[in-house]
Amino acid sequence: EQGEEPTGILLPLDIYQPERRNSTGLDLTNENTIRDLKAALEKPVKLPNKGDIKVLNPANKDDVLGEISYTTKENVDKAIADSISGFEEWSKTPVAERANILEKAADLLDADILRLMGILVREAGKTYANAVAEVREAVDFLRYYSVQIRREQHEDGDKPLGPVVCISPWNFPLAIFLGQISAALAVGNSVLAKPAEETSLIAWEAINALHEAGMPKKVVQLVLGAGEVGGQLVADKRVRGVLFTGSTEVARIIQKQLSTRLNPDGAPVPLIAETGGQNALIVDSSALAEQVVIDVLSSAFDSAGQRCSALRILALQEDSADRVLRMIKGAMEQLRTGNPSLLETDVGPVISEEARDNILKHIEDMRAAGYNVFQTEPQDECDKGTFVPPTIIEIDDIHALKREVFGPVLHVIRYKRNELDKLMEDINNTGYALTFGIHSRIEQSIAAVTERSHAGNVYVNRNIVGAIVGVQPFGGHGLSGTGPKAGGPLYLRRLLATTSPLPRD
Ligand code: GLU
Repeated sequence: EQGEEPTGILLPLDIYQPERRNSTGLDLTNENTIRDLKAALEKPVKLPNKGDIKVLNPANKDDVLGEISYTTKENVDKAIADSISGFEEWSKTPVAERANILEKAADLLDADILRLMGILVREAGKTYANAVAEVREAVDFLRYYSVQIRREQHEDGDKPLGPVVCISPWNFPLAIFLGQISAALAVGNSVLAKPAEETSLIAWEAINALHEAGMPKKVVQLVLGAGEVGGQLVADKRVRGVLFTGSTEVARIIQKQLSTRLNPDGAPVPLIAETGGQNALIVDSSALAEQVVIDVLSSAFDSAGQRCSALRILALQEDSADRVLRMIKGAMEQLRTGNPSLLETDVGPVISEEARDNILKHIEDMRAAGYNVFQTEPQDECDKGTFVPPTIIEIDDIHALKREVFGPVLHVIRYKRNELDKLMEDINNTGYALTFGIHSRIEQSIAAVTERSHAGNVYVNRNIVGAIVGVQPFGGHGLSGTGPKAGGPLYLRRLLATTSPLPRD
């Protein structure tokens, strides 16, 4: 009927923000840009403080970025106390002003992209392409939640929670870090930000940008350290909510801790957790093999497989499996695994020795168990860092995988047409439900598997990584997290005190 809204995508809230554009990033084919980037990489990095904890470059053990110290127990305590006065001030600050400050911070980061990329490459082992995407995503989160908070009409009684803790991972040390923080701040909470200890420097830069944009110091504070510091924050009853991205195991510990208390309004202390995945891609024999190769490589090996969205299980329909696998292996041999400060590198290091040893142990265990392993060659410079070259392990049963392996390791399984049902059941039964994909040219097959998938993010005939803020809200279910999806319209609401608290006893 004329004038009727188009149907098809039905969402409870409008996810589109015509008043906002995602950031454009940099053109890495431009020679001047590359020259400037290399110069940025050579500059000494700034440090948050002095101490004896070395900040390392995972690609090169001879490159120590500096020495810092972690926040002491007493200073964590003081930060929590300050965060209460920060909250008093910030929760009364008008929405428009909060949004303006977040947008100002986005502009500052955008303008400083080269320097930030230099830190991301050296501290987090990001390739240039990944570093551009990372800064862009961080900027997009800041702007997305700013627009969202300006639009939202909160009901009477919807109030910010109070001081909340953001615990974020090293794999997206700027984007996820700022994604959590900006959402919590947008609705009027104060924030204690605890980045992964591997990526303290980029986190400090992010917090500086927020302060420079006009955010009062007590409203958002950086707390540096490892697990104990996170534990201290979560255990403190002055903390009114937690945003966590990391392992399922740690999310469970946090959940348990939070379940021992209630917020003053009688409601449970909210936890937004985004955790792991055992993500699968199904490729049937109608799929366009050339496209499959490109998408499998980016899904499994981009970021050295260190994305929770990364592809772990590739299921190939038997009829075309040999051909597709041969093509994938051929393309893998063209990937350069090496130091990401070289533009030609496709796959950088994994984050630490511990991470590398864990991944290598999995590969060796699988080899010992009789599975066929294919591995590409690293470059000579890899001796200096913690690298795992892209690897394929052919398995015959998804049950052979006991846990998520966070690195560039792809498990390949073959299935027959009449086994598709069982395959979907096995994928769903892993308990994880983060990303999932299908490559097929048969519409009914696409519909059949996408309907059965439990995953939060389902992709068709494309790669399964790289969700874009405001376009593909990102998050999963079950062992993969609590929702709501980051970069989507429902996220902010979870950061408000509930309007219907549990009865007090
Ligand atoms: N949002 C990222 C993606 O879509 C993954 C985030 C993560 O690894 O935690 O690839």
